[in-house]
Amino acid sequence: MPEEYAKYIQSLNDRQQEAACSDISIPLVIVAGPGSGKTSTMVGRVLMFLHEGFSPLNILAMTFTTAAAAEMRERIGAVAGKAAAKELNISTFHSFSLQLCRLHAEKLGRTPDFLIYGHGQQRKAIIEVVRLLEDGKRKTNNELCKLTELSDINSPKHFKDKSKKWLKFVTQAKAAGRSPEDFHKTGDETGAIILQNYNDILKSCNALDYHDFINYSVKLLNDFPEVFEECQESWKAIVIDEFQDTSAMQYGLLRILASHKRITIVGDEDQSIFSFNGADVCGFDSFRKDFPMYKEVKLNKNYRSTRCIVEAASFLIRNNSKRCKSKDVQTDNSSGSKITIKECCNEDAQCAFVVDKILEIASDGSSAKRSYGNIAVLYRRQVTGKIFQTAFRNRKIPFNIHGVAFYRKKVVRAIIAMLSTTLPGCDDGAFRRVFKALLPFDKEEKKKVVEHIDKVSTVRKCSFISAACDIFSAKISGTFKRSQLTQGRKVLLTLDMISKLVHREQSISAVITSVANMIPQKYLLEQRAVLDVDGGKLLNEDNDIRPVLQYLLDDVTVFLTTIYNVAERDTDSITEGKGCMATLKAFIDYISGRERENFRVRKHDNEDSVTLTTIHQSKGLEWDTVFIVKANEAEIPLLHEYNGILNEKGTSVEEERRLLYVAMTRARKKLFMLYVIMDSNWQVLQPSRFLREIPHHLLETQEELILKSSETSYPQTEQGAPQVSVSLRTEPPDDNTMQHVVVDNLHSEASKEPGEPEYCNSSDFLKRFSAEDRAVV
Ligand code: ATP
Ligand code: MG
Repeated sequence: MPEEYAKYIQSLNDRQQEAACSDISIPLVIVAGPGSGKTSTMVGRVLMFLHEGFSPLNILAMTFTTAAAAEMRERIGAVAGKAAAKELNISTFHSFSLQLCRLHAEKLGRTPDFLIYGHGQQRKAIIEVVRLLEDGKRKTNNELCKLTELSDINSPKHFKDKSKKWLKFVTQAKAAGRSPEDFHKTGDETGAIILQNYNDILKSCNALDYHDFINYSVKLLNDFPEVFEECQESWKAIVIDEFQDTSAMQYGLLRILASHKRITIVGDEDQSIFSFNGADVCGFDSFRKDFPMYKEVKLNKNYRSTRCIVEAASFLIRNNSKRCKSKDVQTDNSSGSKITIKECCNEDAQCAFVVDKILEIASDGSSAKRSYGNIAVLYRRQVTGKIFQTAFRNRKIPFNIHGVAFYRKKVVRAIIAMLSTTLPGCDDGAFRRVFKALLPFDKEEKKKVVEHIDKVSTVRKCSFISAACDIFSAKISGTFKRSQLTQGRKVLLTLDMISKLVHREQSISAVITSVANMIPQKYLLEQRAVLDVDGGKLLNEDNDIRPVLQYLLDDVTVFLTTIYNVAERDTDSITEGKGCMATLKAFIDYISGRERENFRVRKHDNEDSVTLTTIHQSKGLEWDTVFIVKANEAEIPLLHEYNGILNEKGTSVEEERRLLYVAMTRARKKLFMLYVIMDSNWQVLQPSRFLREIPHHLLETQEELILKSSETSYPQTEQGAPQVSVSLRTEPPDDNTMQHVVVDNLHSEASKEPGEPEYCNSSDFLKRFSAEDRAVV
């Protein structure tokens, strides 16, 4: 065994070594709590496969997020060398199955450059299904395609309303791998027809949606023995991290791929947090049943966190009744500092506290240089992160954001659409988007021009782009003004320039830079509001496209160095310009996954920054200091309906508890948990019920009272009446100058009589009424 490998294996503990080095022909299950070295052991397992003579090209490692994939490549690269790490196929389920579908597209009735339908296009397709059913007639394929492209502008409201319901139905059916025949068999004819029509539309438009990738991959493996054989040859060994988040369909795919039984699965049922995406913890049981010869190794020592954090997390998770196999994690680490639970009067105060603490921690008191890379701020919902971005910018704290819906922004979508137009088989949607972005007219005029092109394309039964070509090259007489014709021609020229750029084999970064610079200022100005609303402030006051461009280029770098390993594995040849088209196509495919994942990989050249991320995307990662912000009721647990189950009931509250468990166990040394008591509308908020499940001896004493009072509901006087009973209501302010909290002083202690309502602002309110009193509110 190479020295580096041996050194790595020796650094593992006995159980980890036992797992990593066990017989590679026997299916292996590694289950363990957070921070116990599961991923580290999995890296050891990959080294074993390499040592046994498997080529890195034949090892398939699956993870759940792009970040996890990048992280694993880095960890393996550190031991096995960058070259081997680059050759490994480390994929997410999304990218693996997409690749497989592209490779065998003809078998699915598509061409290899099929389109990927995102949420918007799926919605249009469904609107069309509803329209078709109401019309009661079938349309030709061409007509279907045209209609789906037009539906957003021409659809009456009731189509849109119905489509919402049916889109949910189709998505759920596909996530469960159900076919129209399945619905037919159960007598659900409407369901069968809706699904069938939807599938027909996608087929006639040469498109697949996100769920199709997995479903069709399973179909390819089941129905085509040659595909199955090829995959067995290609993927001789398989390892899966974060197995608890695998959906039943994804597991179905794995089961077939791993027919050779050289499979290792790694996971922790307590960290299953993607059930809304179809994740199914029962996957472990299915695995044990399907691979009865499996060997199981349990790891029980946490290396990541202080004893205090490990214990607090264990106390929390013990409240879940649905734990498949309870496993208590221990640690030899020191107990460390206690967990700080901090009450803040509102989100501004919460943000100020975090910023001050970060500046304090980062400076470490000793050196002038601050270090931020070991700090993360985690939140349940993206929206909570926005205020931190602004504050960090103002206080010059470097940060990287995981979870900005970057690829959903109109400006970014316009750039991607411009790039897409250079690829074969580009759909009309991209051309329409480009016209909307590049025509320098106001909204109304733009709409008129685009609608006219639509009309011409419908009448002449041709594509949007050929209609546009005919109109602007004056082949057909139209109603356009001279200025409109001139600008239309300019857009066509721009499209031509972009296509030449790509064919001139420039590097993908250079192409993206040139394309971004073609976006007119007028459009940037229009879109600024949209970007600002999202808190991203990606454009500065001068409507400079550079921040957007930089963000995009950073992602290209991450893509090229850690993700892109399909066609051209040699990054140098790509950056020198060879295969720009292929790379661009792969990059656009990658973005299709990122759009859903809603996630940004940590920048490698800027490691020393605070990470801002949702809890979901923090999985598998670790930082010295972690701030969990807005740990409030209605945040975590989040009270809304998903998967048809209200969070308030049973399983979903348990999932929310697992989510907090994941968040807490990201911290190595110091954990802060913050909650706010008032939202921006002056509504009173409650701390998360989960905070009460952490025993007081693990907390800094400061906030102990609050938690105690919440537990006992309110303090009692001798007579059993509350000492101070206040009710708080928000009076919508008539003007925006003063906002008041109205305190109805119902029973002051002295008089026991209802008092006069009083007015105070929120900080006075906080000063006057103790946490115990506020608990009564
Ligand atoms: P999670 O469930 O959060 O994904 P995990 O079980 O995958 O956690 P790792 O990320 O592999 O855990 O390891 C957690 C930390 O513990 C890492 O910093 C890793 O380097 C360290 N670690 C793992 N095993 C050992 C070991 N045997 N000796 C020392 N440190 C270890
Ligand atoms: Mg891990």
